[in-house]
Order: sequence, then C-alpha cells, then structure tokens
Amino acid sequence: MSPFSQKILQTLQQVLNTIQNQVIPLHEPFFFKNEWEYIKECLDTGWVSSAGKFVEIFELRLAEYTGTKYAVATVNGTAALHVCLKLVDVQPNDEVLIPALTFVATANAVTYCNAIPHFVDSNEATLGLCPEKLKSYLKDIADLQGKQCVNRFTQRRVKAVVPMHTFGHPVDLDPLLEVCNQYHLELVEDAAESLGSFYKGKHTGNWGAASALSFNGNKILTTGGGGAIITNDEEIAKLAKHLTTTAKIPHRWEYVHDQIGYNYRLPNINAALGCAQLEQLPWFLAQKRTLAEKYQEAFEHVEGIRFFTEPGFATSNYWLNVLILDKYYMSERNNLLQLTNDQGIMTRPAWNLLHHLPMFADCPRMELEVAESLQQSLINLPSSVNLIDK
Ligand SMILES: *Cc1c(COP(=O)(O)O)cnc(C)c1O
Repeated sequence: MSPFSQKILQTLQQVLNTIQNQVIPLHEPFFFKNEWEYIKECLDTGWVSSAGKFVEIFELRLAEYTGTKYAVATVNGTAALHVCLKLVDVQPNDEVLIPALTFVATANAVTYCNAIPHFVDSNEATLGLCPEKLKSYLKDIADLQGKQCVNRFTQRRVKAVVPMHTFGHPVDLDPLLEVCNQYHLELVEDAAESLGSFYKGKHTGNWGAASALSFNGNKILTTGGGGAIITNDEEIAKLAKHLTTTAKIPHRWEYVHDQIGYNYRLPNINAALGCAQLEQLPWFLAQKRTLAEKYQEAFEHVEGIRFFTEPGFATSNYWLNVLILDKYYMSERNNLLQLTNDQGIMTRPAWNLLHHLPMFADCPRMELEVAESLQQSLINLPSSVNLIDK
C-alpha cells in the first residue's frame, strides 16, 4: 500500500468515523414516518396503481419545488428522458449532442428515438458538457440550413443538446443556451442527478424545453423507481402526460388512442413514497452539504488530490461526492478503489465513457480529452444523508 493510498484511506475513515468491518454504502435511501403512512393509505384504499391522489400531489409538489410550471411523473428517469426527446421532436436519424461522461441512460434514450448520440467533451469546472468547446466544435462541423443545424460530415440533422448535471453539479447553462439559440438546437436537461441543485438561483431543469428527473433508489430522493418530466410550457406538459399514458383520449369507457404512446406513468404507490421523500428534501440537502464540507476540510491539505466543489454560479445538491486525483497520482486510482472497498468504504469510479461501449463506438464525437482525464482521475465517495450523525 503506497503512502498516498494510506493517507486517503485514513482521511476517509476519519470523516466517516468508521469502525472495522463496517460497510459504508455509496448511497443509501433514508425513510421517515410518512413513507409508511402514505404507502399504507395506498394499500388500505386499494389505490396502488395507475390512478390515485398521490401522483397528482407529487407532480404539484415537484413543480412547486423546482419552480417549473408543470411536472409529469414517469415510471423512471430513462422513460422521462425518452419522452423529453420526443417532445422536442427528435426524429429517426437525427443527431443529439450529449456528454461522453454520463450514465448510459442518456445515450440509450437517444437511441430509443432511433436517433444518434454525438459525444461532447466535458468541462473541468463543472464535470458536465462544455459549452465553449461545443461552440467551437459546431463552427467546424455544423452548417445552418434555414432553421436547421446539419452535420456537414454526416449530412444528418443535429436536433438537440442534452447536458447532464454530473453528480448534482450544474452545467454552465447560460452559454449553452446561447449555443442552442445560435444553432437552433433544442435543449433537454438530463437533471436526473440534480434535484435540489440550482443554477444562478434557479432550479436546474428550467432551461430546457423539457427536462428529466430520476427517483431511482440511489438518487437524492427515491420513489423505488421513478422519474419526472418538468417543463414551463403548457403544450409540452399536456403532450408529456398524453404520451406517457398510452396516448389515450380521456373518455369514461371508450379506448381511443390517437398515436403510439407509452405506458410510462408512475404508479400511485411509488408517488406516495415520493410525496413523503419530498418532505425530507430540505433536510437531505442540508445533511449532504454538511458532509461535503467535512470532506472538503479533511482533503484540503492532502497532497495529490482535490475534493470537487460546486462552481461559483451554482448551489449543488452534492448528490455524490467526488475526489479528483492529480495527474501525477492518476495511476493510483485502481489501488485506491481496491483498498477502500476492501475496507468496507464503497467508492466507485466514474462511468466508462460512452464511446468506449460497443454499441456507441461508431457514434460521432469530438476530441474527448477532458472527459478521458476525468474518467481516469475521478472517484465517488460515500454520500448517504445519514453519514454525519453517527
Ligand atoms: C439515474 C440517471 C438516469 C435515469 O435513470 P433511471 O434509473 O431510469 O431512473 C438518467 N441519467 C442519469 C445521468 C442518471 O444518473
């Protein structure tokens, strides 16, 4: 064990206050009293499935919290992303610009539309898609034909950009929006990880025409599985509800569907869990911020490593905490992962860059220098909300 790895392990043990053989998960859900109460109400009344009051309440509370006009709950975050892309009219054979450093769901959603992911490099200060790099890249590869952006090399239409707020840290949205306006690109935010994260005082998910949230078990709050589409556009919200509920025309008994829709609605029992979890969100966020501050303080004077903190324009939810190894220590990453996991402290690397996966290997992409370097130097730390009270 190198002195470097030893030092990191000790620092983590000190922050997490661990004892031998105790396992510290990467991210655990946390439930209070109302989770039991609301789910029991679903069971007692029989409203567990596709109808019931909790879906509506959850949607209203989500819109209220995120400051968006509308929220449509979905069965998971991937489904929300898929429908978001449909809502901005991504068509088969279109290209959609997404970061190479993201969870596979971002690219999968693009392919569900028979469109093609086009990978963009990351920004070191945000860990997300880099607007400046995208701008100069589009200058080289994109032609504007009327109000359409066309990839000069593939002749395909470039329809949309999907930034992802990595581990809860917001992308620099204003310059990105400028690029979108200049090239007539639709903006869809993958806000799956950023519930509770704000950009210049406004909640993430307010910049795109439609944005996707996730409430999977490992996210900042969970509905078991679940997601939502948030938007400020009434027409888009109506269409989102329609597409996620099999495109059925409301009628007391007739089954009339006016297009191919999806069975993507969130069951009432999951929404009940979500309502209870949302009540705890302010506390979750406070706990996470305190934990992040502890990590930051502890790693401040450790050589060769940096604890990632929110960019100046953002208030992050610190969903998953991040350490970044200096170039010189990058080769220690695997040792560190091994050592910490052996000691019961669950750490994780970043996702493999998507163009390294077989199904996306042939997708168009720009130079991915920063994403490559982040992928090799980034480590996620245990981040559950109950870690600081032990
Ligand atoms: C979690 C996540 C999603 C959606 O995931 P689901 O498990 O389908 O809810 C999408 N994108 C990113 C970046 C995510 O982290």
